[in-house]
Amino acid sequence: MIIVLKPNCEESDIRTLTGVAEKEGVRVNHIVGTDLTVLGLVGDTSRIDPGIIESHRFVERVMKVNEPYKMANIKFHPEPTVVTAGRSVIGGKKLAVIAGPCSVESEEQIINIAREVKKLGASFLRGGAFKPRTSPYSFQGLEYGGLELLATARKETGLPIVSEIMSTKDIDKFEECVDVIQVGARNMQNFDMLKALGGVSRPILLKRGLSATIEEWLMSAEYIMAGGNEQIILCERGIRTFETFTRNTQDISAIPAVKSLSHLPVLVDPSHSTGKYWMVEAMARAAIAAGADGLLIEVHNDPVHALCDGQQSIKPGRFGAIMEQITALAPLLGREV
Ligand code: PEP
Ligand code: MN
Repeated sequence: MIIVLKPNCEESDIRTLTGVAEKEGVRVNHIVGTDLTVLGLVGDTSRIDPGIIESHRFVERVMKVNEPYKMANIKFHPEPTVVTAGRSVIGGKKLAVIAGPCSVESEEQIINIAREVKKLGASFLRGGAFKPRTSPYSFQGLEYGGLELLATARKETGLPIVSEIMSTKDIDKFEECVDVIQVGARNMQNFDMLKALGGVSRPILLKRGLSATIEEWLMSAEYIMAGGNEQIILCERGIRTFETFTRNTQDISAIPAVKSLSHLPVLVDPSHSTGKYWMVEAMARAAIAAGADGLLIEVHNDPVHALCDGQQSIKPGRFGAIMEQITALAPLLGREV
């Protein structure tokens, strides 16, 4: 961290800031010029709040030279993280594919889709039991009944289950029924939830917030990791931009960006990124070509009658085509399906 002081600062101001930094175990180098005084902080500055430093009236500017996240940072963990759930993995050479409906609707629906996506090569089954809907009048999910049906689908197919948690009160139930706990875009900065998930034994799939910067997203991962759970999977699901043609804008550049900053695996969700079933195939290819560790795709056997997100859900046939395409792409990229 670099602190630039105002030209008229006093010797006592420098002593104040030096004291603040040294209390956190950080060394301070002083550069006193003719016009400006600059303090260079050396060491772990993660506990020093740049906002508090900047609130001193004698401070001109604070510049961070290091990322504020440590555990999620590739600098301190150069080996890529590989997350394991059941017999499936996310990260490393193999591409992971999580597929299934937006929401669990019935036993017949979830079992049929689970069998189809498994046959076509999916490595995880997804299905929402608790749905974060914009309207309180929309279908909210089968809730605990939905989790039970997912557990049945796991028993039937052996596929590990991914499902979204909406409340910390359900953590025990999720640990019991689900193999990977999803934190949805809307809860990416629910800090109580992130702290609580730091103590669970299941991997966490952390979706990028609707308008979150990459740094905010990685700081949310840091919250969970700081609590002791280092099994995090990041998932880019599109961000809000001025464009209205698509539901969100799939941020392809986030993939190489995250790969350069973090060791955590990153998936792409082309369904929520686009909001259009016919775009999913192209954006899935783009995500894999850009270096994603896999995909999260909404697949429904009857999208027209889906209770949630039918407009972006693909049928098993199109899902099969995506699997064929990424299987063909994988060796070009040094990956496997
Ligand atoms: C979902 O995965 O069904 C979902 C609600 O996604 P997001 O949190 O990305 O909107
Ligand atoms: Mn959905």
